[in-house]
Amino acid sequence: MGTCPLDRELMLKDNFTGLLRLWARPEVLTCTSWGAPIIWDGTFDPDVAQQEAIQQNLTIGLTVFAVGRYLEKYLARFLETAEQHFMVGQRVVYYVFTERPAAVPRLSLGPGRQLRVERVPRERRWQDVSMERMNTLHAALGGRLGREAHYVFCLDVDQYFSGPFGPEALAESVAQLHSWHYHWPRRLLPYERDARSAAALARDEGDFYYHAALFGGRVQALRQLTAHCAQAQQWDRKRGLEARWHDESHLNKYFWLHKPAKILSPEFCWSPEIGRRAEIRRPRLLWAPKDYAVVRN
Ligand code: UDP
Ligand code: MN
Repeated sequence: MGTCPLDRELMLKDNFTGLLRLWARPEVLTCTSWGAPIIWDGTFDPDVAQQEAIQQNLTIGLTVFAVGRYLEKYLARFLETAEQHFMVGQRVVYYVFTERPAAVPRLSLGPGRQLRVERVPRERRWQDVSMERMNTLHAALGGRLGREAHYVFCLDVDQYFSGPFGPEALAESVAQLHSWHYHWPRRLLPYERDARSAAALARDEGDFYYHAALFGGRVQALRQLTAHCAQAQQWDRKRGLEARWHDESHLNKYFWLHKPAKILSPEFCWSPEIGRRAEIRRPRLLWAPKDYAVVRN
């Protein structure tokens, strides 16, 4: 199933990256119980990943929503830093979803990189903007985005790249460890606990707490993920329920039922407010400061 070797014998025989993973970062978990790699700085060779991706002639999609105040506040920096760090050397297509296409900043893009803007309605509540993304992404993956990209990453806009984020992150399905929760005991994780919700997880369920600010994978895998989450949200809404952390609660339920093929360490989506941590060597994406009064009114 997964690609990370649990068995030292196998590792020595034919899995160099598995070996690298265990030896490079003995202090952190680098492999899940189902055999998926958890990638940390130092556990992969970015040049090997780059060469493999180039040989496959990939197009990688990056989707981001910027609705209401989030556009002026975050989008320019998100895109400018993505140009510096996201999949540099690969073919990239950005999809920006907004209710005001004319306000999207004009950027001069590197070679092989394109930006498409798609109009979405503006929902009244920020929670609805966040949750509606699952429907919109599902449709986009079934349309032009799905035809032109092989892999897609779906990101929140309230963050910016601060280090190389390359093809080492690619896999059939990719989940992000939440930087505030990666070291918490399972019973304390903020999953939806109301058993009536489609997102509910019982006390003895859940592998990790994943952050909905970043997920990705192959187009077909993401079609399945977005269909599940959109449907589950609709079921809840019909019954007057809303999961504790909205789309993130449903994403966590999905990844409990359908294990991700690769997990990114919190270095790939780090909150600088946490301060220094020995295991966080090189953050690749940082949460931008949130001015709740400005963006959510
Ligand atoms: N979003 C948006 N406008 C809104 C609310 C949300 O564009 O009014 C998008 C934006 O991409 C944002 C994401 O939905 O990053 C998730 O919302 P938010 O970041 O506020 O959620 P949090 O990370 O605080 O859970
Ligand atoms: Mn966010």
